[in-house]
Amino acid sequence: MAQLSLRGIKKRFRNTEVLHGIDLEIGDREFVVFVGPSGCGKSTLLRLIAGLDPISDGEFFLNGHRMNDVAPSRRGIAMVFQSYALYPHMDVYENMAFGARLMGLDKPEVERRIAEAAQMLRLEPLMARKPRELSGGQRQRVAIGRALVRKPDVFLLDEPLSNLDAALRADVRLEIARLHREIGGTMIYVTHDQVEAMTLADKIVVMNAGRIEQVGSPRDLYETPANTFVAAFIGSPRMALVTVTAKDGRLGIDNGGALDVGVLPGASSLRLGLRPDAVKLANGVGGEGFSGQVVYTEYLGDNAYVYVRLADGTLVAARTAPNDHFEPDAPVTVTVTPGAAHFFSADDGRRLVP
Ligand code: ADP
Repeated sequence: MAQLSLRGIKKRFRNTEVLHGIDLEIGDREFVVFVGPSGCGKSTLLRLIAGLDPISDGEFFLNGHRMNDVAPSRRGIAMVFQSYALYPHMDVYENMAFGARLMGLDKPEVERRIAEAAQMLRLEPLMARKPRELSGGQRQRVAIGRALVRKPDVFLLDEPLSNLDAALRADVRLEIARLHREIGGTMIYVTHDQVEAMTLADKIVVMNAGRIEQVGSPRDLYETPANTFVAAFIGSPRMALVTVTAKDGRLGIDNGGALDVGVLPGASSLRLGLRPDAVKLANGVGGEGFSGQVVYTEYLGDNAYVYVRLADGTLVAARTAPNDHFEPDAPVTVTVTPGAAHFFSADDGRRLVP
């Protein structure tokens, strides 16, 4: 059982504050992903939870117990690092046994736990190898196995897939998801990759510059992003944000036409958010819609993304059928699927509801 509560957490390195007051609740058995651009404070927050760095301000509770001053080894938390951090002179078995022995477990119990972890992670044929005799994916499985034998209440994983190539990343991602289902522990996973966040998380925490922008399920974040930062960060190709002026129920862009997208929020100056599947293209200009020009097309087999530069300079991606044809530089008209547009404040970027 592991329920975490972060209240007003701040972190300063010398005089620089890098976390500005983090409030977050994490439930038992939840798979939580911290995601955000490089440098936003994800790893720092994970290290505070692990106890590897002291918390400057605020409180961290685990199952109702204040953890701020509890030593890392006594928190019931295990961390898996991006760099694996295996002992090069020890074989796989010894690497996995080391931490368990430090916990004071007797020999049969250490052996039992290693056998269980090795079986779960399919490491049995590799137990006598040294880390240098393993592939990147195998090393990462050993690092996870080493955390597993400690039977922690909470698993912390810091960018565990970033040293793996793309194919292996997908495999290990599936293994981590399976592991979470099998062991049922609470997992906190750090990544800058929104696809990893979307595919693994029960709950995503989107961070930016030392603050939380939004907490929610993958579906919440995709369907109702709280602001333009989350809107542009989650989803690929990214949501286009078009600055528009509302007049008489229609939205206009600078030097490029106007469009009726249904019910509008009250403000007159808005940012219109368009995901690729909400954008419809027609060859030629004139009539209802924003005018633009095709920049290039990404053909992906089952569909294609056509990138269009609107008359005001904004780049918009449209998902099209693979056989639809849009020539580079061709003039096009952009319309929007009714009800599929997002609206944000032009002032502070917050989501507006019609
Ligand atoms: P992320 O994991 O999101 O990439 P980090 O948590 O590693 O970001 O870093 C957040 C900020 O804190 C960055 O600006 C980084 O330079 C700074 N930082 C991290 N660790 C230290 C440290 N030990 N000393 C000083 N600054 C640090």
